[in-house]
Amino acid sequence: TTFTLLGDALTARGYAAPTAVQAAVLEPEAVGRDLLVSAQTGSGKTVAFGLAMAPQLLDDGGRARFAMAPLALVVAPTRELALQVSRELDWLFTATGVRVATCVGGMDPSKERRALSQGAHIVVGTPGRLRDHLERGSLDLRELSVAVLDEADEMLDMGFREDLEELLDATPEGRRTLLFSATMPKPIVALAKRYQQDALRIST
Ligand code: AMP
Repeated sequence: TTFTLLGDALTARGYAAPTAVQAAVLEPEAVGRDLLVSAQTGSGKTVAFGLAMAPQLLDDGGRARFAMAPLALVVAPTRELALQVSRELDWLFTATGVRVATCVGGMDPSKERRALSQGAHIVVGTPGRLRDHLERGSLDLRELSVAVLDEADEMLDMGFREDLEELLDATPEGRRTLLFSATMPKPIVALAKRYQQDALRIST
């Protein structure tokens, strides 16, 4: 039942079958694990990490869990990608009551603060802006149960390592960490080693 409403959303969207990466994250051995995923744009990776995060966000009836602070964080390299991810998660979780807030450079931070204070289950954003909110106290990561780094290789290439580390260091030790990257160079492997536990490697 955790996935019923999400499956309905996919069907309503006309997506009859999961893509390869979506099928992989739904395999029993992947459920609940840290994941290190090689995935290209267009592979359906956004829905894949949406599905992978679902157990942390939904109760047994498939509805949004009660939360005093965000349960999930998605960090993406650019404003455009973050907005795209937010829209995708919005429709995927639409029937569940899960709320998504977006924090990106170039937008009005006071509007974002309001959205955060009104209660969001998922926060999606770019590294610098998320770090700003964290440092000003408008983003509380102490209850986080799953962190997603989308296009992690791009984020390291763009010089966001420190921002990512500050964000992850502000989250609980026991959180899940899902790392999505088109390529797996050494710095990504090092990041995975530092922040993941017993990660399952997925390449499709
Ligand atoms: P992404 O790789 O996340 O950028 O997704 C690429 C596109 O594939 C997006 O427009 C998604 O909405 C779409 N998509 C996601 N899952 C599926 C699916 N199971 N079947 C067909 N299209 C999908």
